[in-house]
Amino acid sequence: MEISSRLLEEAVDEVSRLPGIGKRTALRLVLHLLKQPAEQTERLSEALRTLRTQIQQCRQCHNLSDREVCDICSNPKRDHSIVCVVEDIRDVMAIENTGHYRGIYHVLGGKISPMEGVGPQDLHIDTLIKKAKNGEVKELIFALSATMEGDTTNFYIFKQLGETALRLSTIARGIPVGDELEYADEVTLGRSILQRIPFEGSLNR
Ligand code: ZN
Repeated sequence: MEISSRLLEEAVDEVSRLPGIGKRTALRLVLHLLKQPAEQTERLSEALRTLRTQIQQCRQCHNLSDREVCDICSNPKRDHSIVCVVEDIRDVMAIENTGHYRGIYHVLGGKISPMEGVGPQDLHIDTLIKKAKNGEVKELIFALSATMEGDTTNFYIFKQLGETALRLSTIARGIPVGDELEYADEVTLGRSILQRIPFEGSLNR
């Protein structure tokens, strides 16, 4: 795509690096911004800059947070003896939206995927095992998507735990196999948390 302005071209190039945004869409977005008051673009760049420099990972659960310890982990009303293991912040948001969960989370940051070169060492599994053995935790709920990667990750964690008195459960598979949690409707997801099943019962091996 030939663009007559170098400044415009640079902006389009940057925007088109975003996932799912082609050059044409990037051009449309940039032209849209140009039509808006300058303050809007300034607010956008400021929001992104602040996000980038100030957002952090919760020290306890690895969820994205404005503070060292996130609002969920620092809330004394949450049940710290139940830990729900999820892939990323979108799953935390999906489960929070159901209003049916009062425990805390552990965000792995992905799933084990040999195809994509993601191994256990790339995920927050060590801190989960440590947390699971701290004496305060009584139950782990595996809430990864029901894909091969999700199952592999659950099983790896299960093995790492070794002999344990923890109650291990997995969300009931009202969630269609292969679906991502964030696309499950709130009622289905809420029910699947309440009707969770023992993890070992979910292993068909
Ligand atoms: Zn946290």
